[in-house]
Amino acid sequence: MLKIFNTLTRKKEIFKSIYKKKVSIYVCGVTVYDNCHIGHARTFIFFDVVNRYLKNLGYSVKYVRNITDIDDKIIKKSTLINKNIFSFTKHVINQMNIDFNTLNILKPSFEPRVTSHIIDIINMINILILNKHAYINSQGDVLFSIKSYQNYGQLLHKKNNLNEFENNNFYKNDFVLWKKTKNTEISWKSPWGNGRPGWHIECSAINYLYFKNKLDIHGGGNDLIFPHHENERAQSECFYKEKFVNYWMHTGMIILKNKKMSKSLGNTFLIKDLINNFSSDVIRYYFLSTKYKHPIYYNVKNLIKVNKILRKWYFCINLSIKKNYNFSFNHSSIFYINLFKNAMNDSFDTPLALLILSNLAKKIIILYDMKKFKKAIFLSSLLHYLGSILGFFNFNINSNNLNYIKDINLYKKIEKIIKKRNYARKLKLWKKADHLREKLLKFGIYIKDTKNETLWNF
Ligand SMILES: [Zn+2]
Repeated sequence: MLKIFNTLTRKKEIFKSIYKKKVSIYVCGVTVYDNCHIGHARTFIFFDVVNRYLKNLGYSVKYVRNITDIDDKIIKKSTLINKNIFSFTKHVINQMNIDFNTLNILKPSFEPRVTSHIIDIINMINILILNKHAYINSQGDVLFSIKSYQNYGQLLHKKNNLNEFENNNFYKNDFVLWKKTKNTEISWKSPWGNGRPGWHIECSAINYLYFKNKLDIHGGGNDLIFPHHENERAQSECFYKEKFVNYWMHTGMIILKNKKMSKSLGNTFLIKDLINNFSSDVIRYYFLSTKYKHPIYYNVKNLIKVNKILRKWYFCINLSIKKNYNFSFNHSSIFYINLFKNAMNDSFDTPLALLILSNLAKKIIILYDMKKFKKAIFLSSLLHYLGSILGFFNFNINSNNLNYIKDINLYKKIEKIIKKRNYARKLKLWKKADHLREKLLKFGIYIKDTKNETLWNF
């Protein structure tokens, strides 16, 4: 039975979808004013796992992730580089797609852009004004009236932070739904003059369009809890007149040298740099090895450590691939599947799920060393199956190890040494063969001799 930690109640709750066997998920997407950083990688890899796992449980998943393609930062940046705003955002979206694709993040069911939904936003604001939840101020902007919504502050846990809440006007300030713009700025026509939407209203309007008031899971990074998600709740619940979301899920931050990673501090690492140095599996493992709610103290040394763990996984995967063995259920696979599912059902405990897979890999290698090949190959196919649920092993199974190695020259070098070593073994030149094995070890290559061939991997 799947349980999910709900940010709103701060409790792990049994997951029950609104519609049987269907799940609706909305995750706030990227504001496309700059290339995606590793904080995006963490959040969207995690929700990719949520999406994949729910599908594996048999749900049909409707997953919507918006693209914020209009806001102050986008306007500022495109003006600064003297580029048309739409060609600028198109360029950033292209890079985002390359990044997410490389990270093996599945495309959501829908990826709406805010600028395609201005009319939906205007309609929602209109109703909020009619129902006295919003008003036009003296500057001609439309603002949401916080005091018109009784439950404001629940997501932020106002009760626990009451002093801060009461003493800080920031929490009580009405927020912008529609911003009146000057003639020179990009704008859309509205009943309140030319302008553009505030940030929060886009997610409420897009949600309404795709899900009405039937949303199972709403997610995002935990920096969005306040004000973005608090304001989204206020807008949507005042618009629907009923509960908006059943489960709120938030991913933790990335900490760099004891500071929160953020654009404003200028200490961001970009995905495109990360994928130049590490494979998609290494990056995925690294981010999933911390519970999704907890902060990650980013350290590149830990990514290098993951490489070593994955070498063992790949060695096992190669066994089942080389034998063309397809996974099937039986008594021993059910044992591991249950362990894996218990971990994942506990509010997506991915660190525990990874540990179970690593222990499985260790067991496979022991069986292999004991020459229990049939069992080793069978469990390897199980490792392949379970790892794929988490989004690992996205490679063409016929293309050997090449997929894991960025450096083609290194690959060729390794193959050459193995060829030499096989020749030495054929001539029974054992000393030379041992010497070449040591040489391979220096490259971090792990080899296994079988009767007819030498298997190798990192
Ligand atoms: Zn949002």
